[in-house]
Amino acid sequence: MALHDRAPRPGDANDSLFAEAGLARTLPKYAFPEGTMPPAAAYQAVHDELMLDGNARQNLATFCQTWEEPEVKALMALCIDKNLIDKDEYPMTAELERRCVHMLADLWHAPASQTTIGTSGIGSSEACMLAGMAAKWRWRARRQAGGKPTDRPNMVCGPVQVVWHKFARYWDVEIREVPMSEGHYEMTPEDMLERVDENTIVVVPTLGVTYTGSYEPVAALAAALDDLQARTGLDVDLHVDAASGGFLAPFCAPDLVWDFRLPRVKSISTSGHKFGLAPLGVGWVVWRDVAELPDDLIFHVSYLGGDMPVFQVNFSRPAGQIVAQYYDFVRLGRTGYRDLHQAAYDNCTVLADAIPRLGPFDLVCAGDQQSAIPAVAWRIREGVDPGFTLYDVADRLRTKGWQVPAYPLTGAVSGIAVQRVLVRQDVSRDLVELLLADFEEAVGHFSRHPVTVSMTPEESSGFSHL
Ligand SMILES: *Cc1c(COP(=O)(O)O)cnc(C)c1O
Repeated sequence: MALHDRAPRPGDANDSLFAEAGLARTLPKYAFPEGTMPPAAAYQAVHDELMLDGNARQNLATFCQTWEEPEVKALMALCIDKNLIDKDEYPMTAELERRCVHMLADLWHAPASQTTIGTSGIGSSEACMLAGMAAKWRWRARRQAGGKPTDRPNMVCGPVQVVWHKFARYWDVEIREVPMSEGHYEMTPEDMLERVDENTIVVVPTLGVTYTGSYEPVAALAAALDDLQARTGLDVDLHVDAASGGFLAPFCAPDLVWDFRLPRVKSISTSGHKFGLAPLGVGWVVWRDVAELPDDLIFHVSYLGGDMPVFQVNFSRPAGQIVAQYYDFVRLGRTGYRDLHQAAYDNCTVLADAIPRLGPFDLVCAGDQQSAIPAVAWRIREGVDPGFTLYDVADRLRTKGWQVPAYPLTGAVSGIAVQRVLVRQDVSRDLVELLLADFEEAVGHFSRHPVTVSMTPEESSGFSHL
């Protein structure tokens, strides 16, 4: 079905790009191509396909970095040929990874940050998986030492990110997730105590609940577990999933006690590529001291003559993100992180003040820096039918390129839809104002063009970063 016969031409720098033979056909989709394509043409074709992606900067769903300094890009390019696992060949990269672990241990008040243990991972998901495994191993060892059965492990948590459902399924652990109910979107000490027993391997509070952005009350949970231990002897560990809060609270809520200052917190995980400001994908997990990471989980690999202790799921991994993370630490320091995140919180407040004025919207989270990440989440006021849903709003905003997901809560409130904006460093005040103008326009649009059939959740946002 060639429209015009053209002799296939070898790649030539003088060719007009779009007259190139390789661009006179669609790109292969299901069959492996036979021959070559000049790099400029292949680049252009792939580049152009990517135009159909959303614009990452307008993606207000993601917690992840969508802007990086030129220096970060330069370091990423410098590291493109380095494999993080080759500690022997790239000892300096390995050293930077180690430094990051100890610097995080210091940031999170580990008792002895020089000697504690931790690792990077591809993201929080791998980090959570490793922390969960360590908790299961510790629990099993304690049970075996007491001659008790080890066949019914469980974990207790509030509304968690999907990684903990994965962890529970992959490692055969029963997950006891506190269901949400009206106005009750986090795990309280009472919720927790109802679910904890001798088979609980770990309780996992989230610092920055995915649905609402709020911090679960780690100190109150720890105090309740201290009390439980005093009453019953039951000693249950905490792991804090601080995927986003781990890089926010230390700078913007320094007096909030959620970290290794609480002796019951045995491990903490975070995503470097969220508020850690590193490019995708790097996560971190740190144990409060070496005793909390069972030695039989660590592989001592002899690799090209070196001894390499590893506790990771992956083997080969890109090194650039680790190097960029170290750059961020030395470049920004505590004041740099604080200033950047403070600006995000300030922009978040502008948004949180404005949204309820644009329609019958009630805030579910306002992004208060003492108790939440810089995220605003809202719902349609109970009992009000404005003639559109938040799924319709999400769909309408998409026409201007904004991706502002709407999604249902879970548990008893799964009938309630919320909409959420994550305010990252690159969601500037100016962008917030532009978004608000488009939001107002969307609401006005529905009064001029009433919605007859609302969008389904699937149609409006596709997926919702839960
Ligand atoms: C994002 C997130 C995760 C998963 O982190 P990745 O870095 O995307 O793997 C886990 N838990 C929470 C609370 C999160 O916000």
